[in-house]
Amino acid sequence: MIIVLKPNATKEVADQLLSEIEACGLKPLCMPGEERVVLGALGDERRLGKLRLESHPMVESIKPILAPYKLVSRELKQENTVVDLDGMSIGGDTFAVIAGPCAIESSDQYLKTGEAVKAVGASGLRGGAFKPRTSPYSFQGLGVEGLKILKDVSSRLGLPAVTEVVDVSDVGLVNEYASACQVGARNMQNFRLLKELGQSGKPVILKRGMAATVEDLLLAAEYILSQGNPNVILCERGIKTFETATRNTLDLNAVPLIKQLSHLPVIVDPSHGTGVRDLVVPMSKAAVACGADGIIVEVHCNPREALSDGGQSLNPDQFAAMMHELEPFVRAAGKKMKSSANN
Ligand code: PEP
Ligand code: MN
Repeated sequence: MIIVLKPNATKEVADQLLSEIEACGLKPLCMPGEERVVLGALGDERRLGKLRLESHPMVESIKPILAPYKLVSRELKQENTVVDLDGMSIGGDTFAVIAGPCAIESSDQYLKTGEAVKAVGASGLRGGAFKPRTSPYSFQGLGVEGLKILKDVSSRLGLPAVTEVVDVSDVGLVNEYASACQVGARNMQNFRLLKELGQSGKPVILKRGMAATVEDLLLAAEYILSQGNPNVILCERGIKTFETATRNTLDLNAVPLIKQLSHLPVIVDPSHGTGVRDLVVPMSKAAVACGADGIIVEVHCNPREALSDGGQSLNPDQFAAMMHELEPFVRAAGKKMKSSANN
């Protein structure tokens, strides 16, 4: 439930109401706005009956939150959330470009790729250390060694880096090395992992499961927010459909839809969304056009030798060309790109 206070309501009134809401067994929330303070009460609303909020002299209006997800909903919070990843903000007026290889393979490979993407204006780095591979015989990532390389390259280049966490017990470890934890498609509904990330407070990039609806994704995000962590970025990365010509079907409908339903930032992964290198650039442009706050894209210094996802990875020249081609789309969308001059 959302409780809008009158413009002249004092902080004492707000605090008093918050403690009464808590005493009724609901979770109280306070969202001070420019003109009015808005309170939230999450839980069994029937228990609030005895407070008679509708006749409180300082309450302007009361609205139920109809969506099954509460904290992530636009009903609760109208302004866009901007998440800061060690200096890279996602959700504001800058279009974020997170780039790097599918997996960190060596110091040399990661530094070369990182230098190349930084030179043309990437805002952040990506790179997997723990890889959730379909086959147990495929390269599984360098593990902790990969995290060390990630951190080393990220600090040498002065760019924030994101990497996937696949296990609850690794959350603390990954957070030590990375600016944000990525939850992969295969783990979107790993609720224990989501709760652990919710308690960590660090930014989380939550990728949509390959068979998840938009509502499933928003409810997964709700798990993280409900544990006290508001720093969640949603990622559309394609879903499984009957179409087999591409690896996944990039559901760009989801972007403007999520923007209506939620205040959280949304980025797009055109690499996994298509699985086809030649489709990455056009779908990145489409991502800008439909209102995404950024992209996360696979780039490898030598895609032919990549240990994973080489076929969908751009080489540094292709990435540079993409950055150049994206610029006018980003400008038309009323946003800006981080310029390479700021790096
Ligand atoms: C990845 O980003 O490398 C990855 C494995 O993505 P997803 O979880 O979307 O498949
Ligand atoms: Mn990959």
